[in-house]
Amino acid sequence: MSDHNPCMSCGICCTHFRISFYWAEGDDAPGGFVPAHMTEKLNGHLRCMQGSNSVPRRCSALAGEVGRAVACTIYDNRPTPCRELPVYFDDGAPNPKCDELRATIGLPPLPRFDLPRAA
Ligand code: SF4
Ligand code: SF4
Repeated sequence: MSDHNPCMSCGICCTHFRISFYWAEGDDAPGGFVPAHMTEKLNGHLRCMQGSNSVPRRCSALAGEVGRAVACTIYDNRPTPCRELPVYFDDGAPNPKCDELRATIGLPPLPRFDLPRAA
């Protein structure tokens, strides 16, 4: 597999899901890290990224043009759900959910990559 990160030319998941997470991941809580000013309260336990709670969705932290060139402006401090969607599984197979979402904006399926064989 090349070093190219397929997410950098995709970003569709950042406009598809409501990005909700435990409220204390916000940086207004002790140990929190997600910029709280970019979130909104959902209830006593959960908050979500602004822009992701209504349709059309687009997380307020997403920069760029979906399907062409995008970036997460809070990448190092993105919330848990953004860290939990694997593009590839350990066996080198692409995540079918990614391919499903990518297809909605005309992007091709992700290539499978072969892991080096153990000697
Ligand atoms: S849908 Fe998959 S490939 Fe596209 S940005 Fe999200 S994680 Fe990356
Ligand atoms: S925080 Fe970053 S990775 Fe998560 S949905 Fe927003 S732009 Fe995408």
